[in-house]
Amino acid sequence: MATPLNVNVVELLRWPGTTKDVLATVEVEDFEFNDARVSNVPISINVHLESLSNGVSVAGAATATWHGECRRCLTPLSQLMIVDLSELYQQIPEDPDAYAIVNDQINLLPMVRENVLVAIPLGPLCREDCPGFCPQCGADLSEGTCGCDSAIVDPRWSALENLKGTLPD
Ligand SMILES: [Zn+2]
Ligand SMILES: [Zn+2]
Repeated sequence: MATPLNVNVVELLRWPGTTKDVLATVEVEDFEFNDARVSNVPISINVHLESLSNGVSVAGAATATWHGECRRCLTPLSQLMIVDLSELYQQIPEDPDAYAIVNDQINLLPMVRENVLVAIPLGPLCREDCPGFCPQCGADLSEGTCGCDSAIVDPRWSALENLKGTLPD
């Protein structure tokens, strides 16, 4: 795996309170997402590193583009998203969520990779009130109504309806 996001933190580890800013733009292939939802658009990263007594905090954001389709009407969607990043790196990770500092280096790549994947919406919608397709005839309801009876009939109630009249009062 390419390591375009390795940051040397020797100075930060030496002096708590020291900060460092990292700005980078990385090709999507370098992340090896293996996820078709991530668009082939370079990911830009802007983070602020700060040396703490128990490690190095990394805070900032990454921008990535995802694509998919509306879960109701299947319209193709593509959107740029800003992913907030706020993580801790430790030489001997004691925090279960912390990333490891290896040989005085912080590798931002796996951290950005995980955060981008988590940020992609699971069931995207083209718009909040997308009506989707008619469950009966399959018409695209965003292009107009189809004329089907949209009243939902519970089969248990219709069975009772049928019994009516056959039973004596
Ligand atoms: Zn839709
Ligand atoms: Zn219909």
